[in-house]
Amino acid sequence: MERNRKRRHQNALLNQVEHEILMLKERRVHGQADEFLWRQKDNTYSDQFQSKETWQILHGPSPTWDCHRGIWFSFATPKFAFMTWLAAKNRLATGERMECWNTNVHIGCSFCAEPKETREHLFFDCLYSRQIWEALVGGLMGSDYTWKWTNILNQISLNGRIDMRLFIVRYAFQATIDSLWIERNRRRHGEKPITNTILVRMIDVMVRNRLSTMRRNGVKKFEDGIRIWFGTRRLL
Ligand SMILES: [Zn+2]
Repeated sequence: MERNRKRRHQNALLNQVEHEILMLKERRVHGQADEFLWRQKDNTYSDQFQSKETWQILHGPSPTWDCHRGIWFSFATPKFAFMTWLAAKNRLATGERMECWNTNVHIGCSFCAEPKETREHLFFDCLYSRQIWEALVGGLMGSDYTWKWTNILNQISLNGRIDMRLFIVRYAFQATIDSLWIERNRRRHGEKPITNTILVRMIDVMVRNRLSTMRRNGVKKFEDGIRIWFGTRRLL
């Protein structure tokens, strides 16, 4: 079959396109393989492939790119960090996002009467989750305390020394996000709801376990962790 046969189109523009393609094919050096080039940040092309740059060109700049420092830190629990990362990128299947894929799905909050569940509502506009967050870190964060999503991300991503206080806030944040997401999914599957009083106790145990593991492993600079935690967290 003749692959370069010129087709006739009704539309004059398509004929023009067809013509340009033929011209390019004729100009091409025969016997030479096509070369793949990747677009770079500055709009030039190169044969160097960089996954991060290509990802950013395809998806556009990410507003939460800077918060990786506050999420992927030493002694984090990978599962919690991953869930937090998904939340930071707004990739969790919240009601608001599910509505785009399926109009027949329940998109309200599983904890309260809010008709549209968004990431910001879950973490921590919702009274159910806000009470948990405040009980866990209200005392620890003191005057820096905030329950607003973007403010929390800013707080945990601050440059500078990672002290015990910052470590606990980061860790409690991730444990809380993971626990709330699990409880939210349990409720959506019709399981018996867990009160936020119980959930605070469950997250308290997760944080305590992490801090005592670190102490047993001799992480010297974090020795005070348990004492600080017991002195600041409040059980509902
Ligand atoms: Zn709610």
